[in-house]
Amino acid sequence: MEPQAFISKIKDTAIEENKKVGIPASLTIAQAILETGWGESELAKKANNLFGLKGTGPAGTYEKESPEYQNGKKTMEKSIFCKYNTWDECIESRTERLLNVEYAKVIGADWRTACTEVWKAGYATDPKYPSKLIDIIQRYELYQYDKGEYRMSKLVVIDPGHGLPDPGACGNGLQEHERAFALAQLVKNVLSRHGVTVLFTRNGERSLSSATNLKTNKNEDLAARQRFSNSKATDFFLSLHMNASDDPASNGYETLCYSQNGQIEALHVAIKAFLQRHGLKDRGIKIRTDLAVLKVKAKAALLECFFISNPKEAALMKDAAFLLELAEAIGQGVLTAIGIAYVPMKKPETPQPTPPKEEKKLMKTEDANKIIRVLQDRWNASTCQDEKKEMGRLADEVRVAAGMKKVNG
Ligand SMILES: [Zn+2]
Repeated sequence: MEPQAFISKIKDTAIEENKKVGIPASLTIAQAILETGWGESELAKKANNLFGLKGTGPAGTYEKESPEYQNGKKTMEKSIFCKYNTWDECIESRTERLLNVEYAKVIGADWRTACTEVWKAGYATDPKYPSKLIDIIQRYELYQYDKGEYRMSKLVVIDPGHGLPDPGACGNGLQEHERAFALAQLVKNVLSRHGVTVLFTRNGERSLSSATNLKTNKNEDLAARQRFSNSKATDFFLSLHMNASDDPASNGYETLCYSQNGQIEALHVAIKAFLQRHGLKDRGIKIRTDLAVLKVKAKAALLECFFISNPKEAALMKDAAFLLELAEAIGQGVLTAIGIAYVPMKKPETPQPTPPKEEKKLMKTEDANKIIRVLQDRWNASTCQDEKKEMGRLADEVRVAAGMKKVNG
């Protein structure tokens, strides 16, 4: 790819990430250039992977041999790389990696420092990696894309409860893992709207473990969620669930936490008004030191959003408008907990109903039909082809004047 075409294709998203989390845009662009040889590499072309990111991506995996350095010696090794649907998706995925605590010194650094720190943190094994990046940034003046000021956005990890093979509680035609995920996406929208960076513990419907034994799977899954949150500079960890009970009358909403504090109270208070508005029961804040998922380093809460076993509440959780309003309330609570002022969503402007187009009719339909009938009689009575043709033409003129379709072409 031509250098300018490559830079234009990637720079906007790189600048966006720069503003959002403080990763220099020049570093992002230079790394992509270096790793893909201006977008020409097999990984870039076949897997939209611009950074040699290993693992499983949103579009699956891509297997390929790549150079690895051990004690400065280069060897070729087969590795599994992430596959992406788009370049933007890949850039976002790299941001998620750089939010890991070991890359803390890259965030907010000037581009020169960032080039060295990203290597020191273990991003690449090639000892010449930092100088290669610096060279690219200088030669193509990529530093012009760096924003001096970025707002260090808060980081919220949303944990949609459960994940197959564990569907969570089931009832009234709902599965907990699925509703939790739907709600998580809506809460993410609210937080993103306020400039908060949001990461999910699980991005698909499956749990984070591949163990076939259900109990092992659950344990590994919960540990992985905890590890994920702890590996980032997480400001708040929000786990979303639905409650269940043998008694279909059990109802209400509750906030679970490891220890009660101001943030948890702020989160719960924000939802009270919503509950009152809908006449729903507030079961309050409950301390649960036994829940593994709440034992993360960040401030954490687990929300039991109503009872899947209660037909009325299950119906509410199926309702798109209700879910949207609930997500706003939860989002507002999380924002308050992390010290960001909530701004209500702008009401979408009600589109002005467009008046039905007035058909410009020169003649009333019934008048037209009267004339057409006369013309038809004349047509039937006539033996002259020219006259017949003329009657047909006149009838069509009348039809057009009355807003009808021509018949005689
Ligand atoms: Zn649950």
